[in-house]
Amino acid sequence: MEKIVIIGGGPAACTAALYCGRADLAPLCLEGEFTEDMLPGGQLMTTTEVENFPGYPEGVTGAELMADMKKQAERFGARFVYKTAAAVDFSGTPLKVTTQDETLESKAVIIATGATARYLGLESEQRFMNKGVSACATCDGALPRFRGNTVVVVGGGDSAMEESLFLANFAGHVHVVHRRDQFRASKIMEDRVVNHDKITVEWNSVVEEILGDDENGVTGVRLRDTVSEDTRELACVGYFAAIGHKPNTDLFKDVLEMEASGYLVTKPDSTYTNVPGVFACGDAQDKTYRQAITAAGSGCMAAIDATRWLEQQA
Ligand code: NAP
Repeated sequence: MEKIVIIGGGPAACTAALYCGRADLAPLCLEGEFTEDMLPGGQLMTTTEVENFPGYPEGVTGAELMADMKKQAERFGARFVYKTAAAVDFSGTPLKVTTQDETLESKAVIIATGATARYLGLESEQRFMNKGVSACATCDGALPRFRGNTVVVVGGGDSAMEESLFLANFAGHVHVVHRRDQFRASKIMEDRVVNHDKITVEWNSVVEEILGDDENGVTGVRLRDTVSEDTRELACVGYFAAIGHKPNTDLFKDVLEMEASGYLVTKPDSTYTNVPGVFACGDAQDKTYRQAITAAGSGCMAAIDATRWLEQQA
């Protein structure tokens, strides 16, 4: 029987593991498996430089930050395994979490499963996946396919800015396609994009279709102007979706209270879910801030909530 199982491997999970470790709970952290589009360690593993995590005046890479967080938690007895929760049974006690090869029993569970990149939902996105279509410039941007060539990034948030700036290091030219006439991104990121001589912003535009063929993959996109309704084609070899994320909470459907959008509902000012002993933190629960530092903060909250709850059960 585990005292606490943490599902996730990003900043929320690692911070929860650190605090639970220091509370002598020997937490078991299911940090996920290595798959084609996700590495254990969460979304920061697919980012480049993290410039806004306090304590790193020169910035830090996402991978380094996660390695440090994990190491710090391990120092206090947290155990990390490359496993994914495949099913949960929270109908009674102990709480049960089934991985690919075993069913764990635990007194408490912290959910820190994070979020995954969204696509527009076009059939052509699926068709040209890995043939020019990607949602991760950091993972794929340096591929020979994109070097010196034209690519398109869709979105107007910080992710779209970050992806465009990263791609501009390799690509011949980057077009940022945004559906409105102003960005949602922070001013500093926006300024870097609009002042970059290798980046052009296509305001008030949406991608209607990704064009291409089986042999060449992506060869262009069809854009529609949302004001004039005119359509036009833009030649490119790459299409990067940067339109936000979906919380990884499918596992908890009909088990835990969640919003229609999938974000887990927690009791006000806490990480308590509607099931006693189950706590939620990070991007699986936070639809507002979604920062590494806020995920880490809510992981700390979940660990404190869980520790106090376990003490009350003793
Ligand atoms: P986001 O802030 O939610 O932005 C998503 C963007 O995609 C918005 O501009 C949105 O347009 C657009 N969009 C959404 N659905 C669309 C659709 N169906 N068709 C066309 N466009 C669509 O997501 P994000 O950029 O991934 O950022 C998420 C959070 O992480 C934010 O809090 C952000 O600050 C943070 N973040 C920070 C950094 C950093 O500081 N270095 C880097 C990356 C992310 P509208 O604007 O019209 O809604």
